[in-house]
Amino acid sequence: MKELEDRILKDGRVLPGNILKADSFLNHQIDPDLMQRIGETFADHFRTQNITKVLTIEASGIAPAMMTAYALHVPLVFAKKHGAHNIGSEFYTASVHSYTYDSDYTIVVSSAYLSDVDRVLIIDDFLANGQAVHGLLEICRKAGAACGGIGICIEKGFQPGGSELRAMGYDVMSLALIESMAGGKITFR
Ligand code: 5GP
Repeated sequence: MKELEDRILKDGRVLPGNILKADSFLNHQIDPDLMQRIGETFADHFRTQNITKVLTIEASGIAPAMMTAYALHVPLVFAKKHGAHNIGSEFYTASVHSYTYDSDYTIVVSSAYLSDVDRVLIIDDFLANGQAVHGLLEICRKAGAACGGIGICIEKGFQPGGSELRAMGYDVMSLALIESMAGGKITFR
């Protein structure tokens, strides 16, 4: 998605540890017009997949996932990070290793909102090593839900998450696929 690539080049910042800061438009301050076009682009690609729910993790995934769910006219479910919320006793959980904080956390989805009738589109802001997406896939497996695709705003292609998920057979659509951030210079694949 050329618009997202241009925005990354204009407003993104490369931090030590292969972290791309996109918080002036994607995940802290949010550009709603860009986000709407991101949602429509994911929806156009996955429209034939009979998606019944969009699934993401709080907090950064919610904005692109919400716009995608709106374009597909299906509910958005976001996994909560355990500890911060009390959502009752019936839930599915998975453990996720955080790329940005280098620590583990548990994600939780109420069993009321995901089941074996669902075909899920997973959306997230970034894909690096794939831990967050694997956590969401584990939640789907526990719920008996199928995964109809994975939509990522920014994939760091020099990290293994995307290629591993594609090798497993998942349709992973990345709107900006970064080839390299070496020396602070961003290039796209
Ligand atoms: P993964 O689980 O694929 O290793 O990392 C994806 C998750 O870590 C995303 O949900 C995102 O929040 C965070 N993340 C990974 N890499 C980056 C990055 O370069 N910049 C930002 N802002 N977040 C990242």
